[in-house]
Amino acid sequence: MYFYDLPLHKLEDYLSLNGQNKAKARILYKSIYREKISLGDISVLSAGTKESLLKNLSFTLPHIITIQDDGETAKALLKMPDGNKTETVLMRHRYGAGVCVSTQVGCAMSCAFCQSGKLKKMRNLTAGEMVSQILVMSSLEQIAHVSVMGIGEPLDNFDNVKSFIEIISSPYGLAFGERHITLSTCGIVPMIRRLPEINGGFNLAVSLHAPDDELRNMLMPVNKRWDLHSLIEAVKDFSISQCKRIAFEYILLDGINDSTEHAKELAELINGINCFVNLIPYNETKTSGFRRSKNSDSFFDQLKKEGVNTIFRREFGSGIKAACGQLSAEL
Ligand code: SAH
Repeated sequence: MYFYDLPLHKLEDYLSLNGQNKAKARILYKSIYREKISLGDISVLSAGTKESLLKNLSFTLPHIITIQDDGETAKALLKMPDGNKTETVLMRHRYGAGVCVSTQVGCAMSCAFCQSGKLKKMRNLTAGEMVSQILVMSSLEQIAHVSVMGIGEPLDNFDNVKSFIEIISSPYGLAFGERHITLSTCGIVPMIRRLPEINGGFNLAVSLHAPDDELRNMLMPVNKRWDLHSLIEAVKDFSISQCKRIAFEYILLDGINDSTEHAKELAELINGINCFVNLIPYNETKTSGFRRSKNSDSFFDQLKKEGVNTIFRREFGSGIKAACGQLSAEL
C-alpha cells in the first residue's frame, strides 16, 4: 500500500483492519506531511507498531531523473516504479511558490495547440503519485499553491484527483486551503457536475479558448462530445452552488480566435457568471503550427470594454520548456 495514496479516512480504515488504533492515522499524517519525519523516527509510536506498518506501507518517492531550474521556474522529470515518466513544475511567484501537478501519463484530449495532447494517454496517475510531485518540489521551496494543470486532464481521472485534493487539503496534513488549489479542466461536463462530491475546496479554471462551437470543435475535440452550451450551464451551476468565481482560460492564437469580434462573443457567452478571463500568451510548440497573437492588447481592451474582469497569465518557464502546453515528459 502506498501511503501517499490514502486520504485520512482510508488510512484510518487501513489501520483498523490491521488491528491498530485508527487515531494513529492523524499522528502519521501530522508527522509525515507536516513535520517531515519518516515513519521509523516517529517517537510517539511504539517500535512494534512501526515495524508492522513499515511491512505494508511504502513511502518511496518517484525517482528524479532531472531537475532544470532557471531560478524562477524548475521542472522535474520523474520516473515512477513502473517506468512511466511524468513532469512537474515549480513556479516562484512573488507571493510564494506554486506547483503545477500532472494527473495522467499522456493525455487523451488531443487539443490542437497542446504538446501534451500529442502524447497518447498511457495511464492515470494515482493520488499518491500526484501528492509525491508536491513532496519532491517542496524540497526546493515551501509550497503555497497547487495548480492541477500539468500533463493530463484531471476530470478524466476523477476518483484519483478527488482523493488527491482530499489528501492535500486535510488539516492534519499539508492543509492547502481552498484558495490555494486550482483545478483546470478542458470541459468534461458530467465530471464538472460531480465536483461538489470532493471534500475540500478548490478554485475551478476552465479552458475555453474559443467563443463558439465551430471554432472550439476544431481546437478541442472534447467540445464535440460536450458543447459550449452544456459546458457553460454546468460551470454556472457549479459557480452558484459552491459560491465560486470561475477562471476562464483563453489562449490567444494568431488569426484564429483573437479578433475583437471573438472578444465580444466571449463576453456574451460568459455573461452572468461570476468569473474572470485569464488570457494566456501562446507558447509555441514543436508540431502545432499556431502562432502567438499580435492582437492581444486589443482583445484585452475589448473584453474590458464589455465589462469582463480580465488578466494576462504571467509567463513561466518557456526557456526550459516548462510553460503551459509544453510539457511532454521527454528526455
Ligand atoms: N487538461 C487541463 C489542464 C492542463 S493544460 C485543461 O485543459 O485545462 C493547462 C492550460 O494550459 C490549459 O488552459 C491549456 O489549454 C493551456 N495550454 C495548452 N497548450 C498551451 C500552449 N501551447 N500555450 C499556452 N497554453 C497552453
